[in-house]
Amino acid sequence: NLSTRLQRVANYVDQGAIVADIGSDHAYLPCYLVLSNKVTTAFAGEVVLGPFESAMEEVRRNQLEHAITVRLADGLLAVQPEDQVNTVTIAGMGGPLIASILSKGLSRLPSVQKLIVQPNIHAKAIREWAIQNGWKLTAEEILEEDAKIYEILVLKKGVMTLSEKEKWLGPFLLAEKSPAFLTKWNKEKKSLQSILMSVENAEQTTELEIKKKEILQKLQWLKEE
Ligand code: SAM
Repeated sequence: NLSTRLQRVANYVDQGAIVADIGSDHAYLPCYLVLSNKVTTAFAGEVVLGPFESAMEEVRRNQLEHAITVRLADGLLAVQPEDQVNTVTIAGMGGPLIASILSKGLSRLPSVQKLIVQPNIHAKAIREWAIQNGWKLTAEEILEEDAKIYEILVLKKGVMTLSEKEKWLGPFLLAEKSPAFLTKWNKEKKSLQSILMSVENAEQTTELEIKKKEILQKLQWLKEE
């Protein structure tokens, strides 16, 4: 059974899309998309041999070789322009790694119209990448599963501007303020407060002054919520 996290990612895939799931591991997401009749063509990319073999095995076990192509490659090099992929999913990695995968290979693939990404941490890196590269958020979701909190960001081509606070908290998530959002940021608030205490107790350097300013700014943003 697919995790709630990956089911939520799947919800944003359009009916009939041609999907590339990068960092697919067991290829659970592409298998689910095909088995639930949402898509008929998908690609699963993996850069590590073990997970690549797991993906091949899962596709074979489900007899989905006709629909899912598994490739061993770094990031978006797993797909070619001829594949006509219009949707890219990248889940279960840190935001900076997702942003670097998108930076490296997306310009090769003009057919891609939609990105559905699920960063485990530092979603801000993806929002910043999007602003700089001509993508805009169309939806965001935050969910809790097995005591972990995950964010999902959906992007389409377009122009977007965000404040520093929105880049950090997410414009849609900030507007919605769901229970998972409040849990996540209350925890962050406590952690920032304890870092602030140790910064204040340490000998002051220019570096620490900058750090302290950053923390105070973040705490101010969280206080507003
Ligand atoms: N996407 C699945 C999920 O959300 O459950 C698997 C997440 S798993 C934690 C991350 C996977 O990304 C690993 O299997 C890893 O090998 C793969 N990965 C990391 N960097 C990659 C890259 N540059 N290109 C392709 N795969 C990558």
